[in-house]
Amino acid sequence: SVVCALLIGLMALREGTLAAPDLTLLVLLALAAFEAIAPLPEAWAQLGATLACAHRVFALADTPAPVVEPLMPSPTVGGAALFLRQLRLRYHPKGPWALDGVDLDLPQGRRLAVVGPSGAGKSSLVGALTRLYPYQGSITLGGTPLQAWHGDDVRAHIAVVEQQPYLFDASLRENLRLACPDATDEQILRVAGLAQLQDYVASLPQGLDTWVGENGVRVSGGEARRIAIARALLANPPILVLDEPTEGLDAGTVAQLYKAVAAAMQGRSVLLITHRLGALATLVDDVAVMAQGRIVECVATETYLDRVAASDARPALTLAS
Ligand code: ADP
Repeated sequence: SVVCALLIGLMALREGTLAAPDLTLLVLLALAAFEAIAPLPEAWAQLGATLACAHRVFALADTPAPVVEPLMPSPTVGGAALFLRQLRLRYHPKGPWALDGVDLDLPQGRRLAVVGPSGAGKSSLVGALTRLYPYQGSITLGGTPLQAWHGDDVRAHIAVVEQQPYLFDASLRENLRLACPDATDEQILRVAGLAQLQDYVASLPQGLDTWVGENGVRVSGGEARRIAIARALLANPPILVLDEPTEGLDAGTVAQLYKAVAAAMQGRSVLLITHRLGALATLVDDVAVMAQGRIVECVATETYLDRVAASDARPALTLAS
């Protein structure tokens, strides 16, 4: 193309129909045109993958939200007592009930453990409480039905520390500030201390500026959970839900986490979700036993521990049975 443009241009130059600067322009134009066209074959090769991605993104964008926000949300007053009555939840319109008539009281300041085997409905309970899934029956928070609350207000009142907290591809400071965008470094370091993260932060090459998350430094399971606890402390919610906080961790990590959990529980209502209480038993007042989507009994922690000890002595009997 360049040679052709040059030849045609030279002929035109000789005939006097083209000025010398225009000839340069003509040759450069031929080169520049190819720069624009060169990536097209690769774009064509990737078209299939791009379309498939677009379909998935649009399908997601078109999915109706499972929970409809109220047009006029209730003012968020009235304390943080939580009452559940005949709560039912299922994931598909004709599927089995994951929660099948749960009654539960969490007055302000009460620390309650919900224990039960895998599949009992503990995570579904958390999903209903945080307004992520629609449900039947009633949940009231501060005397107002949860459906009248805006989802964000509910989640500002009920913070969940997940078993596998998500760390964003960002600095530790940004990951913690998610809970409270205006938090100062002083506040962040204070909650990091309460969550037993002081040594971890000190060991990081760039302290709070260290990149954690997907492409950042490796964060162990125990550290990620303590970061999640620090996040929850920064959000300062009246109700804290801890989902299997010590599950899958070694004894040393559990001891550190125990201190962080104890600090996080100070001055709030707590729902501790676990399939095995272990050392955390000392931190809760009562235990609700869950099985097949229902609370089958709710007793003081000592009574529960006595029964577990008795059933351990008689292995054939289990609490759920
Ligand atoms: P737990 O937390 O006690 O292990 P879950 O709440 O996760 O119990 O599960 C309760 C029931 O709901 C189980 O039968 C489970 O298979 C079902 N379930 C949980 N999550 C989903 C989901 N996203 N879609 C369909 N069924 C689900």
